[in-house]
Amino acid sequence: MLDTCTLSVEDRADDLNRRYGELSPAELIGTMAYHFFPERMALVSSFGADSVTMLSIVAEVKPDLPVLFLQTGKHFDETLRYRDEIAKRLGLTNIIDLYPEPLALAKEDPDGTLHARDQDACCAIRKVHPLARALRPYDAWITGRRRHQTFARRQMPVIEADGRHVKLNPIAAWSQEDVDAYIDARDLPRHPLVADGYPSIGCAPCTARVAAGEDARAGRWGDSGKTECGIHWMR
Ligand code: SF4
Repeated sequence: MLDTCTLSVEDRADDLNRRYGELSPAELIGTMAYHFFPERMALVSSFGADSVTMLSIVAEVKPDLPVLFLQTGKHFDETLRYRDEIAKRLGLTNIIDLYPEPLALAKEDPDGTLHARDQDACCAIRKVHPLARALRPYDAWITGRRRHQTFARRQMPVIEADGRHVKLNPIAAWSQEDVDAYIDARDLPRHPLVADGYPSIGCAPCTARVAAGEDARAGRWGDSGKTECGIHWMR
């Protein structure tokens, strides 16, 4: 067996992916959390439309795993209430709120309207930089991303390198039907805005309802062409 600690992050991620990428999501998270990255791994969750799936899997395996939540200051009130409800229901004991740097906000977005002028800059201040700071103590992080969601995610491996981190995408291969079946089988509560026409939920100013038959993420960032907030392209 390779000592993966001596490899580059890219080679280590490739090796882990070859050996463990076919495990079930719960087995994968357990293996990584207890054997490869003990105390050095976190889940990043938006507590959005389908987030309860990954949160539930983590709660089954390691309920005290750090769950990083970006308090962008622009969430729907429903998201913040849902976050508290889900944490209590699943018994997640280690949710960590991440806030934008106050000085950066004061300088770049003093009136809170940067999202209307420069969404990339707003996401950088409110998401990318806070998460980059928060991930410094960790070697690995988990996402709930799936290949079917966007063109850019189509080739996404289950385990990949992301800068100096190993990133796990345990449900990369799951379809929307798989996610819905998982949620229904456990009678997990849905984000309340899903029933109101929001199949993908981010910050309130950048999330719109989606018409029947439209792509689930069509309501994110409007017609700007932006499809990702940038946290998955940190280097
Ligand atoms: S999603 Fe919108 S409001 Fe939220 S950080 Fe990005 S640009 Fe700003």
